[in-house]
Amino acid sequence: MELEKGKRSTQKVPLNGKRVAVVGAGPAGLTVAADLAKLGYKVVVYEALHVAGGVLVYGIPEFRLPKHIVQAEVDYIKSLGVELQTDALIGRLFTVQELLVNGFDSVFIGTDAGLPKFMGIPGENLCGIYSANEFLIRVNLMKSYQFPNYKTPIRIGKKVAVIGGGNVALDSARCALRQGAEIVTIVYRRSRDEMPAREDEISNAEEEAIHIKYLACPTRFIADDKGQVKTMEYVTMKLSEPDGSGRSKPIPIKGSETIMAVDTVIVAIGRTPNPIIQSTTEGLKTLIGGIIEIDRKTGQTSLEAVYAGGDIATGEATVISAMGSGKIAAQSIHRLLSCRKKETPLTPSATTT
Ligand SMILES: Cc1cc2nc3c(=O)[nH]c(=O)nc-3n(C[C@H](O)[C@H](O)[C@H](O)COP(=O)(O)OP(=O)(O)OC[C@H]3O[C@@H](n4cnc5c(N)ncnc54)[C@H](O)[C@@H]3O)c2cc1C
Repeated sequence: MELEKGKRSTQKVPLNGKRVAVVGAGPAGLTVAADLAKLGYKVVVYEALHVAGGVLVYGIPEFRLPKHIVQAEVDYIKSLGVELQTDALIGRLFTVQELLVNGFDSVFIGTDAGLPKFMGIPGENLCGIYSANEFLIRVNLMKSYQFPNYKTPIRIGKKVAVIGGGNVALDSARCALRQGAEIVTIVYRRSRDEMPAREDEISNAEEEAIHIKYLACPTRFIADDKGQVKTMEYVTMKLSEPDGSGRSKPIPIKGSETIMAVDTVIVAIGRTPNPIIQSTTEGLKTLIGGIIEIDRKTGQTSLEAVYAGGDIATGEATVISAMGSGKIAAQSIHRLLSCRKKETPLTPSATTT
């Protein structure tokens, strides 16, 4: 609405001489960048991919979130004076410490939970088996559906199995259908009641004739003579008492092994934080699974002037929660830096190159 009416002010605020580096251009990082730019900070956003937007561009499909909406947000944030550096992988190009030493007064880490989990079962590395991350990036970001006009291809067979029960599994299944698959089956090890995906997403998938096989868990994949996945073996599960997640625990039923013909499999069973920042930032405390430890009220990490938010600090969550944590961190950074004396002269570009 705001976009259509062109109502938002893009008036630049005079710079206050302080610089903030934001790592990751997803909803958390972009929120921090916009809020701080409006307060007069020079903000540079470093993004590992070639476009900004995070999961909004590489994960959520076009039919759910048209990319021009995300691009308009990114353009607006740039119009506030935020500098965006794409293809810039922090942890390799610069470390967080190097950003601080090279003239940034504070760093915000919003680098997501983008490392796919796998089941660890035989045959999982066969041709034709993708992680949901790779599959969705190829489709949404690399526009594989326009190959050869775009350079990244994707091979989708007629019979596609998607493993998992969350929104990512449903997005993958609906994308596979649009890529030309004839039968798409979501394979989920619990029942519909435990499915983590939103109810409306499940209904949308069902309306599109996507099959959902409940209480089924893959046990191995079998290849054809070219190393391409040909069949998937799964076992039927029964539900028992609740486990640590509070949901009924799925238990395999002995002797229930069944073979299902597949020619593409998409594994969408969750994602964990990418460890690159944690492993290159001395003194940055993490929780189990590599989630960056923060003070929830401020977003501050174990390091002074280093803040974090979004999925990297919460585990897989939502766009709104990532934006909320960005707002909290921006306020905390402002509180910290507005008490500090101006130390570094302002240069036209705050990049460290
Ligand atoms: C397929 C899918 C569908 C989803 N659907 C919904 C939905 O419908 N509704 C909802 O609310 N939530 C949804 N989510 C979850 C939501 O998208 C995330 O919770 C949210 O995007 C997290 O925001 P973020 O800014 O923390 O991370 P991201 O959006 O993941 O952005 C992080 C950015 O950091 C970059 N990055 C990572 N490491 C580095 C580095 N070392 N240097 C520089 N840059 C780096 C990444 O490339 C990425 O662009 C979905 C997630 C997926 C995967």
